[in-house]
Formats: sequence, structure tokens, C-alpha cells
Amino acid sequence: MDEKRCILCNKPYNYKYEMFGRGCLDNLYDLLGFSKSPRIIWNKELNLCTKIAWKNHKFFLNKKKKYALAQKYIALTYLNMMNYEALNDIKEQISNDIKKIKVFSENIVETVSFSLNEIYKLYNYTQKFNEILKEVKKVIWEEVDEKVAEGFIKSLSFIFDETKKANPISYAVFYSMQYTFWQIVVVGGILNNKKLSSMLLFNSLSIIGKKPNDLVIEDDEITGLIIKSEAFKERINQLIKKYGENKEEFIVNNEVPKEDVLIRFEGGDLLYALHNATMYVKAKKDKENKWNFEIEINDTYDFTDFKDLKEYADAKEGKLRDIFSSTLNNLGVVSSEYGVIKTYNLKIKFKTKEGEF
Ligand SMILES: [Zn+2]
Repeated sequence: MDEKRCILCNKPYNYKYEMFGRGCLDNLYDLLGFSKSPRIIWNKELNLCTKIAWKNHKFFLNKKKKYALAQKYIALTYLNMMNYEALNDIKEQISNDIKKIKVFSENIVETVSFSLNEIYKLYNYTQKFNEILKEVKKVIWEEVDEKVAEGFIKSLSFIFDETKKANPISYAVFYSMQYTFWQIVVVGGILNNKKLSSMLLFNSLSIIGKKPNDLVIEDDEITGLIIKSEAFKERINQLIKKYGENKEEFIVNNEVPKEDVLIRFEGGDLLYALHNATMYVKAKKDKENKWNFEIEINDTYDFTDFKDLKEYADAKEGKLRDIFSSTLNNLGVVSSEYGVIKTYNLKIKFKTKEGEF
């Protein structure tokens, strides 16, 4: 006789049941909120399936239908416990398949095919993920050194498994875990002192099937960061020299040589956030003969660009720098393939004048 394996946990068992080992069967009674069957019931597995059928208001089903219904119902129960919005469509399809199991229906409809063991494993992944997340939420990132931070990230790296993309159910679950990772661990944790980077990453995260909106940023704190940067000051002075000599106004836009509009910042938040930015300038002298500027910085947000910046990043840029250029970048590439991190266009607009920077 072939070895029997529990369709939930995949462990071998040699009891008379057709689907589950005795341990799993006991757990299922608890999980589904059924009272333990009395001893006199000979087949506790069949009894469980009957209870599930009754709970779904289905009576007089034959055994085959009862067993199929039980599998779908148990799958649905585990999917519900994972509580991810990305699973809603799949859950609805399984619910509909359950509705179609009737006494006189001929075939058992399988809109969503699944293995109960796969779903059980996915549930265990999410449990593990939530446990680690609980710990990560307690971390005070400003006080953590790079090794510790990297340790946390590595302990969560199992959610960046590219092989899970192939199946719609595991795709939805891994998508959701990655989505939570970027939101909570990176935006709310590692990046919480980098306003622009966290704002841009946050906007690139969208729920399954949705595209992020383009972003227009008009924010004093971010403007302050830009006008105080060396890259900005140097560029403006160059532009005044090149285009403003003996003039009352000038415009720097896509009609000037590329090197006059491409801008890369030296480090910190701006370097992490803006990768291939261009800066357009409208300059005009005021009554006091000072230059006034209208600035527009444009970029396409693409997390995977970050790889190119690795060499560029300033070595003085303190803790967490390497996490960005290596570990987080690699995970970002996986999440970009999953479609968790998406690209979009952004624009930063502000006004400033000579003497302010
Ligand atoms: Zn089992």
C-alpha cells in the first residue's frame, strides 16, 4: 500500500482517514470551532466533513462532495486568517465554488485549484512574518547600528522568494508581505529620518493591480534640503555664469545641453531619493537686482536605479548606507519584479532667490 500523507501538513500517517493525520484532524476541529466528536463516532474525519457541510447549509451531500467541500472550506478558513486584501478575489472564487456544490450538481467546480498543503505553508510563512514584524516594530532605528539593522532585514528575507510568483495564491500572499515590509520596516523604520526617500517609496507601493499616481511635491522641509545642498548651489552659480551674464532673465529647460539639467546630489536623503533627476530653472532679476528662481526637479522613481549609485554614494554618509546599496537594493529588485514597488514620475517645485542658499 502507498504511504498516506496528510493533505494539510504533508506528514506521513497510517490511520484509516483519507485526508488528514490524527493531529491535524484534532486541530481542524478546534480551528473551525466544532466541539470534539464523541468517542462513539467511528470516522471522525467524515464527521468533520459532515459538520462543515451542515455549517454551509448543505445536507444530503454524497461523501465525495462532502470531502471536496471540506477542503475548500478549510482553504478558505486559512486564507481568511491571513487577512490580506490581495486574497479577496481568490477567496470570492473559492466561496463561489463552494456554493456550486449541491446535492444534484454533477461536477465539482474548481475555478481556483489549490493544494491545501501549499495554503497551510503560506499560512505558516505569514505567522513567522508577523512574529518577526512584532519584534522589528520595537526597534528604535536611530539607535541601531548597521549590523543589527541588516540582521533584521535578513531575518525577513524569506518573503523575497521569486519562485512564489508563479502561483496566484502564493503570489498574493508574498506580495502582501513585501508590501507590509516596505511600508513598515523601511518607510516607517529605516527611512524614518529621510523624509523625501520615505515619501517616494511610500508612493511607489500600491495594492495589487493598482498603479501609483504621479507625485508633485511642494514641501518646505524638502526644499530646504535641496537649496542647502552643494550640488544645488554649484549648479545655480554655474547657470548664472553661463546664461545670466548681462541679462534680466533666463530659462534652463530641455533645450539646453544635458549636463546643464541633469543633477545628482552628494549624499543623504536626496541621493537615496533622486536618481536621474533633471532640474529646470526659470530665473528673473527683481527690483533689488537679485536673481529669483522658479525650480522644477523631475525624476522617474525607480528603486532599481539605486545599484548605479553605489559607487557614487559618499563614504562619509554614516550608518545604513551599505544596507541601501546592497541588501535593500537586492530586495527592491525582487519587489519590483513582483510589482510591489512601481515606477512613476515625480516633480518637486519651489521658489527661491539669491541669498537664500
Ligand atoms: Zn497533518
